Amino acid sequence: MHMFGTANSRAVAERLERAGFEAVFVGGAVRDHLLGKEPKDIDIATAAMPEQVKALFPATVDLGTDHGTVLVIEQGEPVEVTTFRTEGTYSDNRRPDDVQFVTSLDEDLKRRDFTINALAMTLDGGIIDPFGGRSDLASGIIRAVGEPAVRFGEDALRMVRAVRFVSVLGFSVESATQEAIRRLSGTVRNLSVERIKAEFDKLFTGASAGQALGLIEDTGLSESMPLYPAGTVPFPACAPFRNALDGWASLMAAGGFEPSAVANAYKLSNKERAYLRAVQALLKTRRRGGYTAADYYGRSLDELLTAEKLAAVLLGDKPAAEQTIRDALGSLPIRSKQDLAVRGGDIIGWERSRRPGQWVGAVLDAVEQAVLHGELLNDANAIKGWYEHEYKHEE
Ligand code: ATP
Ligand code: MG
Repeated sequence: MHMFGTANSRAVAERLERAGFEAVFVGGAVRDHLLGKEPKDIDIATAAMPEQVKALFPATVDLGTDHGTVLVIEQGEPVEVTTFRTEGTYSDNRRPDDVQFVTSLDEDLKRRDFTINALAMTLDGGIIDPFGGRSDLASGIIRAVGEPAVRFGEDALRMVRAVRFVSVLGFSVESATQEAIRRLSGTVRNLSVERIKAEFDKLFTGASAGQALGLIEDTGLSESMPLYPAGTVPFPACAPFRNALDGWASLMAAGGFEPSAVANAYKLSNKERAYLRAVQALLKTRRRGGYTAADYYGRSLDELLTAEKLAAVLLGDKPAAEQTIRDALGSLPIRSKQDLAVRGGDIIGWERSRRPGQWVGAVLDAVEQAVLHGELLNDANAIKGWYEHEYKHEE
C-alpha cells in the first residue's frame, strides 16, 4: 500500500511529532484509504493543545478553538488539526454542552460515531483500531461506537450519517444500530436543517442511494425530516442520482411538492431553487405532450436529463436517450441571448435619432424568439435587415 496522506499533511504530522506531540491521521481519511479510495479532506488528531498547534505553524486559521480544531495551511494546502478530545453531556441531541481535551487517542476515538470512522493511522502506517473498525470495513457494516441509543441521543445527526454511509459506501447498518435509529428517529426534528441538508447532498451522490432512501422510510426517519415524499415506491425508484441536484428534484417530484416548498424546507441556495423550477416546468410541458425547441432553450443538459428520468419513473413515459437530448440541444440555433450575433449597442447604432430605452430590450427579445424558431438567421446583417424591413413595420 502506498504511503498515506499528501506530502503536506505528512509534513504537518511530522512537525507535531518532532515537537513531542502524538499526531495521527483519523476519521474518514483513514477509512477511505483502507477502502482503496482517495481521501478528500485529511484530518489529523493530536495531543497538542490548540495554542501549541498555532505556535508550531506560521499559517493557521481558527476553526473553533474551543472545539480544538485549527486549520494549518501547509504550502497552500489546508490540513485540519484537532486536539484529542471527548465531548461532555448533550442536552439537545445536537451539540455537546462542553468539550474536554484529553491526552489519550483512545478517548478521542471513543467519541466518534461509527467503528469505521474511529480508526487512526500513524505516520509509519500503523493502524489503531480499538472498536473493530477494520473488520466492519471488510464486512461492509455501519456500527455505532458504544451503545447506539446513547450515541444517537448525544447527536441525532449520526442517524442521518448512518444512512448517508449506506448510500456512499454500499454498506448495511448493523441490527442494534438500526433498531436504535428506528426508536430515536423522531429526534432528528431537533437538528438544524443545514446539517441535514449537507448529509442529503452526500447521500444523493452515493451509488446505493436507493437503498439508503429505503432505509430512511423503514426506520421512520422520513417522518421526522423537514419535508419528505409520503409514498414508499417512487422516491427510491428515482435513484441512483446524477448528482445532488437530481436528488433534490426527485424528492420534489416524488412528493408532488412545489419547488419553493422543498427549497424553503431544506434552505436550498438560489441556484438549487432555480434547478427545481426548471425541472418542474419541463415536467409540466412533458405531461402536456412533449418538448419543442423552445422548451430546450435555456435549459442545461443536467436539467433535461433529470426531467427525462423523472418522466420515466413517475409518469411512466419512455425517456429520451441522452444522445437525443444532446443532439436537440446541439441543434438549437442559440443557447442563450449571449449567443446572438447582435448586442443592445448594435441595435442602438441602427437608430441614430432614437434614445436608448426599454425598446432595445424589446427588440432583443423579438430577435431571440425569431432566431430560436429558425425564422431568422443568427447573423448581424440578417438581423439588421430583418429589423429594418420587418420588425419596424409591425411595431
Ligand atoms: P466525508 O468522507 O464526507 O468527509 P467523514 O466521516 O470524514 O466523511 P467528517 O464530517 O469529515 O466525515 O468527519 C470526520 C470524522 O469526525 C468522522 O470520520 C468521525 O470520526 C467524526 N465525526 C464527524 N461527525 C461526527 C458526529 N456527528 N458524531 C461523532 N463523530 C463524528
Ligand atoms: Mg471527512
